[in-house]
Amino acid sequence: MAFAFRVLESSSAGNCALLESSECRVLIDAGLSCRRIGAKLEALGLRLEDLDAVFITHEHHDHIQGLRGLSRYPGLRVFANGDTAQALNGKFSRNPRWQIFETGSAFGFADLEIASFRLPHDSYDPVGFVIRCRSGGDLFHRWQSAAWVVDLGYIPRLVSDRVRDVELLVLEANHDLDLLEADTRRPWSTKQRIRGRHGHLSNDAVCTFLEQAEDVSWRQVMLGHLSRDCNNLDRLRHRLTGNGACRVPVSVIDPANHEGPAIQHAMT
Ligand SMILES: [Zn+2]
Ligand SMILES: [Zn+2]
Repeated sequence: MAFAFRVLESSSAGNCALLESSECRVLIDAGLSCRRIGAKLEALGLRLEDLDAVFITHEHHDHIQGLRGLSRYPGLRVFANGDTAQALNGKFSRNPRWQIFETGSAFGFADLEIASFRLPHDSYDPVGFVIRCRSGGDLFHRWQSAAWVVDLGYIPRLVSDRVRDVELLVLEANHDLDLLEADTRRPWSTKQRIRGRHGHLSNDAVCTFLEQAEDVSWRQVMLGHLSRDCNNLDRLRHRLTGNGACRVPVSVIDPANHEGPAIQHAMT
């Protein structure tokens, strides 16, 4: 009934989380280089060989760049929907050991139950995950359910319904609207894509969602996928403590990783 969860890294440059239950160790997205994932695991006393599976949300580089190296491990299963796998096939010298799921359906892996649901985002078939654990845990296994929802232009009713009853919610806070507007490196068309209904969530959008949320089971919310150019910790934290602040503890994942991985063992 429980698992440990930590975000190895999350920003618009790369996203990867580690989930450890009694029966398996899995990555959610593999958006760091394989070498970097290996180094992160080593710091935790783990090796790449210890991984059992990867769950991929969509084919964008910041979610899959580790697959090139990870596909060298033949025992590692890589779960994705058909469109995402097809978009990636042929991109690596060896195709991953795909395990195809259907978007909107649930599947099992070891003691986990994983439900996928479609997100509004500009890739072939992007999904979020809700993961629940069936087996018992110990001191280091605290969570029974978590949602990973990181690339979406807005939060449809379907998504808010799906994440309502999880204990741990990981959600995107991609950009600050003023910083995006002022950014000189991105052309107008890219800014429009980011702001669009199939782009990314702004600080305002995600904070409004958290402020208005009712009847939720969340014990902890983690905000990630911050843009390194168009967002920063201070602006997001300031927005979070503004009027109508969220009643649930919210942590923000440092996009530069200076504050280290977000470790989620502390909550009881
Ligand atoms: Zn994306
Ligand atoms: Zn992304």
